[in-house]
Amino acid sequence: MMELPRRVLVGQGVIAELGRFVRELASANRVIVVTGPHVKQKLGKRVEDSLKSAGIAITWFVSESATKDIAEQIAKQATKEKVSHIIGLGGGKSVDLSKLAAFYSNIAFVSVPTSASHDGMSSPFASMKGLDKPYSIVAKPPAGILADIDVIADAPRRLILSGCGDLVAKITAVKDWELARDDVGEYYGRYAASLAMLGAEMFIENASRWKDCSVDSVREIVEALISGGVAAGIAGSSRPCSGSEHLISHALDLIAPGKGLHGEKCGIGTILMAKLHGLEWDKISKALKSIGSPTTAEAIGIDAETMAKAVVMAATVRPERYTILSKKKLNNAEAMKLITSAGVA
Ligand SMILES: [Zn+2]
Repeated sequence: MMELPRRVLVGQGVIAELGRFVRELASANRVIVVTGPHVKQKLGKRVEDSLKSAGIAITWFVSESATKDIAEQIAKQATKEKVSHIIGLGGGKSVDLSKLAAFYSNIAFVSVPTSASHDGMSSPFASMKGLDKPYSIVAKPPAGILADIDVIADAPRRLILSGCGDLVAKITAVKDWELARDDVGEYYGRYAASLAMLGAEMFIENASRWKDCSVDSVREIVEALISGGVAAGIAGSSRPCSGSEHLISHALDLIAPGKGLHGEKCGIGTILMAKLHGLEWDKISKALKSIGSPTTAEAIGIDAETMAKAVVMAATVRPERYTILSKKKLNNAEAMKLITSAGVA
């Protein structure tokens, strides 16, 4: 089963076209817009004007945090108000909240990312507090994605660089997927794998240019992140986007909460897992370094021992997901050796 976005609009200043964009998706006359207080203040008026001028009534749902309970609350309100769409306007949190609320209420979801720190803007997966799993769960893919490059380029530089870490992660995610096909007979989709890999390859080739975070660079990064999420939609699983490097990031979420952004942790995890896979890990490390992304544990405020612990623990975070970590079963000393030899500590 493939579930894909029906319309994707990427461009400068396109936030002003949100009303028309939603109207063309379906006969919308009422929507709920989920966002955070900061984004509401910054973009609220433009979003409201655009939706209203397209004849769409709007209810704001402003939330600072993202939990399963809040997603359920949004789903209830959206059902009660009979809205046609739940629009997620913001960085990861608002988009994930909307995605999960859309899944609970079976109402279409529109993704309007205001930063590009990971591929959640286009994927069918959501992660947040209150879910019983420390990793992303299947929710609902967006019916439409509207990405305003001016808005995203205006977000802190660290966020877009983190997005590059989520891009490069596809190298080890796809390698782990191949391994699962070969070792345990798991379904493998060549097309979805190639699509995900394309974004990672583009990053390796263009990192030194993307470093400028110009409008052109940001557009390419955003398009690559969207393609990654679409690859997951084609595969019907997060396999093409998330492998052992993501498991390390999830383990760090558990043992060192609040340290490093998702994409930063995935980028470092990719260096380590590429080395374990016997891939050209130094190329990955060099590309991340050249764009200014962290490549060491210290750079995200984690010591070598904690990093080693996360690598060992990663194999147990999601036991049913077969990766290089399931195969190699590293102990603490081996994990430490890997970390030092890959220059992560
Ligand atoms: Zn990710």
